[in-house]
Amino acid sequence: MSTQEFDIIVIGAGVAGGIFAASQPASTRILVVERDLTEPDRIIGELMQPRGIQALNEMNLGHLLEGIDAQEVNGYNLIKGSERFTINYDEVEKGIHGIGLRNGKFLTNIRKELQQRENITLVQGNITQILQENNTVTGVSYTQEDGTTVSQHAKLTIVSDGPMSMLRDKLSKVNKKVTSYFMGLVLKDLDLEFPSYGHMIVTGEFPILVYPIHTNAYRILIDYPGGKAPKMGKDSIERIKESVVKILPQEMVASFLKALEEDQFKVMPNHAMKNQAFRMKGAVLLGDSLNMRHPLTGGGMTATFTDILCLNEQLAGIDFRDETKLQSAVNAYYNSRGKNVETINILANALYGVFTNDELKEACFEYLQKGGEQATGPLSILSGINRNKQFLLKHFFKVAMQHPIHFITKPAKQIRLYKNAKGILYPILKDEDVPAML
Ligand SMILES: Cc1cc2nc3c(=O)[nH]c(=O)nc-3n(C[C@H](O)[C@H](O)[C@H](O)COP(=O)(O)OP(=O)(O)OC[C@H]3O[C@@H](n4cnc5c(N)ncnc54)[C@H](O)[C@@H]3O)c2cc1C
Repeated sequence: MSTQEFDIIVIGAGVAGGIFAASQPASTRILVVERDLTEPDRIIGELMQPRGIQALNEMNLGHLLEGIDAQEVNGYNLIKGSERFTINYDEVEKGIHGIGLRNGKFLTNIRKELQQRENITLVQGNITQILQENNTVTGVSYTQEDGTTVSQHAKLTIVSDGPMSMLRDKLSKVNKKVTSYFMGLVLKDLDLEFPSYGHMIVTGEFPILVYPIHTNAYRILIDYPGGKAPKMGKDSIERIKESVVKILPQEMVASFLKALEEDQFKVMPNHAMKNQAFRMKGAVLLGDSLNMRHPLTGGGMTATFTDILCLNEQLAGIDFRDETKLQSAVNAYYNSRGKNVETINILANALYGVFTNDELKEACFEYLQKGGEQATGPLSILSGINRNKQFLLKHFFKVAMQHPIHFITKPAKQIRLYKNAKGILYPILKDEDVPAML
């Protein structure tokens, strides 16, 4: 491919890069370089929260969720032992819902859309280098399938190479933690009381999620706590199987055992990573290469789309040749994105902390089970519809302090609950408060 003039180069046609490119005006000339254009089969990005769907619609890209047998998700069914209850998105706001899908099918839709756009050139290539001159990013070098290397230049490079990004360390201080791993399988032939719901199972020491991704197929994600990946030898799998069967609702067991017989776990690390971009001229980090949170609440794609809306607002009407204005727009994006995604990030990481602490888990389950605002309040944050941080903090502490009388009747337990809640929340709040570096 010969060198061409582009306004923007996008690294990665994944959820972030693909949707960003598709949401640009027809006058913007864009090169998208994706390492592998074949349809991936992966366990990430399969449950989209209602705000994610709204954001896609706002970018006129709602049709990318069509034609892939995606499944409407109406809320959550929370399960702890024999206790169960549902919370509905509809009670947060009439008419909203989430959607369960196969990430690979969604990406294929996105990539087809890019191929149809005259202003977008989509190529397969592995970006090996971000090019710089005088502390300004000027483009990229990538290796094509035939082994040849191509360099391309643009005024702005969007670095969206995903959770395992190899390129983010040139543009940010990387401080990522693996909090746990998710092990995924597909469950078939399930006969559920609430088929169109996400199931959050908090019976055991680790949470399990089950939600529909296409007709007669549910994704199960089993959390494996700690920073070390689960071993996948025969004995280890046998042990995992035993501990999962103990806590899985009876109606899911046969399907789980069958899935394990026929397939292998897909395993992915669950990261927490705050945004610490250096704000180098000519480049922007977007998606998981910029910021990650625990996927328990399915907030990653919604956070990404919210970032894209924020970046698009800043880039609107920009003359890409005006470097000063372009850099101001990028700075404004880094300065203002936090208020849109902080509640998604805080809730994801805090809820994971709560669900892996027995007493807090009990308290949280009891709180949500009360229904009314105790249920719809937290769900409004999880769905991405409500982005009020004070509202989130109010509910978080109300979970720990829902029985003030316990300060008198059970002081030791009550003080422990409060301290543990604070211990989970405060470091997360501190991380969220860190602005992108100047
Ligand atoms: C286990 C797990 C489950 C999750 N579940 C959900 C969920 O249910 N709902 C939700 O909203 N979020 C979920 N997330 C988070 C969500 O998947 C991410 O937030 C989202 O995929 C981020 O999009 P991205 O574009 O940054 O990364 P990706 O979608 O991974 O895209 C990155 C792209 O860059 C390409 N690339 C990488 N390196 C290069 C290179 N050198 N050159 C060219 N191309 C390159 C990759 O091939 C890929 O196509 C989950 C995360 C995990 C870990």
